[in-house]
Amino acid sequence: MIKIGLNTPPPNLLSRIGNAIEDVKTITHPLAKKYNKNILAMTFPKQDLNLGLEPSVLTVVPDGKNVRYIMDYNDIGFKDKDVDLYLCSVYVTGMKDFIKFAKQHPKSKIIVGGYEPTMNPQDFVDHAGKIITGPCDSFWETMEQGGQIVKGITLNRRIPRYDLYDIKLNQQIIPDKKPDDVVTSINTSSGCPNNCDFCCSPLMSNRIVSKPLELVKKEVEYLKQYNPKFIFIRDENFPLQKDWKQKLEAISKLDAKTYLFASANLMTEDTIKIMKNNNVYMTCLGLEDITREYGKNRKLDEVCEKHYKHGLFKYLSFIVDPLKVNTNEKSAEFYEKLTGRFNDLKPEMVCGNFLMPFKGTKLWDKYKHLVSKEDFSLYNSKSAFLEKNLERRLIDEFEMFKHQWKYYNSETYKGIREFKTNDTLYLRFLELKDMFARKIADAIEKNPQSKALKNLTLE
Ligand code: SF4
Repeated sequence: MIKIGLNTPPPNLLSRIGNAIEDVKTITHPLAKKYNKNILAMTFPKQDLNLGLEPSVLTVVPDGKNVRYIMDYNDIGFKDKDVDLYLCSVYVTGMKDFIKFAKQHPKSKIIVGGYEPTMNPQDFVDHAGKIITGPCDSFWETMEQGGQIVKGITLNRRIPRYDLYDIKLNQQIIPDKKPDDVVTSINTSSGCPNNCDFCCSPLMSNRIVSKPLELVKKEVEYLKQYNPKFIFIRDENFPLQKDWKQKLEAISKLDAKTYLFASANLMTEDTIKIMKNNNVYMTCLGLEDITREYGKNRKLDEVCEKHYKHGLFKYLSFIVDPLKVNTNEKSAEFYEKLTGRFNDLKPEMVCGNFLMPFKGTKLWDKYKHLVSKEDFSLYNSKSAFLEKNLERRLIDEFEMFKHQWKYYNSETYKGIREFKTNDTLYLRFLELKDMFARKIADAIEKNPQSKALKNLTLE
């Protein structure tokens, strides 16, 4: 028992001392002493600063003043002789750039982790001294394991190295978030036990690994200094955790508008009320592919209505399978149905993603004959790469944009909220509008005879 007297530090100071001791323990890990030159962390592909959030590699990098996060791997600003380790987090779309980078630096200094090395560790054997698979927050403990391919170790003792990153670079598409509003994020769990056939999250971890509440509180305390206006809970399905209420209560201390992912089957009226009372502003519920039925979405209509009743925004992400919209007739039918769902459910935000079959998911076998090595650079959910005719691909991509644009400018949406508010949602759609105008003009220049291209207008 701790007795608090005049000479006894108060509990919060004790816990800070405890944390400092923990940090020193990490820094003085015997392996850390061996690597006293620079340790550079980077992500492949480079961060998209229009859409980005602090990168998850910050969870992996160790403590120490010699650790740096590098935004651009083409301009690292250090010579190999001054660097002990390159920590590279690699996603599918960054593979080409990573291989180019790896060829320019000593293999023994390159450590890889992230989605791609987890899924295909053998592809890195010629390029990296160590290959970390799965989640990891304890770098030196992971590194001291023997062998080239090792499993990431998570000890839940540390918070991400936010200090290596300028939090003002964070942007997120959120209704009413202005470009200058500070947004940050937090992870309270990783992995997902559900096995949705299109989703790659269970491939990183197929069970929910929950962070201890105390660690979440520690991270919230740390994040207070940024005074965020918005916070994004990055968990795959936040209310799936047993202690989500306590965690949400802790996060609400930031007094920031919170948004999170949740599946509709978990969103009871009580859950919605608790969320509303704890600063939750918006939940992202996956509408997914509207041509299919999902058990988790059986009560979606009711859940959306309860969101409206309690003043919670709902964000519906949806999936478009290019094979289901590959003629004008099929496309018209699909988007009529989708628009009908928007009008029924009245989401404040929608976001379309093209189907991306991942190796290891149930969908893979059905689509793998349509995926070439070159397509991996297009795994950004905005490319309809399963469509092999390039003109039709552009039509598919434009149509997906067009129907969202129309919804945001519709009478239905006017009854929900104002679209043209110069928030990041509106500004993003203006960017997309310009981007498509340029793409379509280029395509018409190359193929002036195409009537289909000339028909691509917002009318
Ligand atoms: S879509 Fe959501 S619920 Fe389904 S496996 Fe992925 S993270 Fe889990």
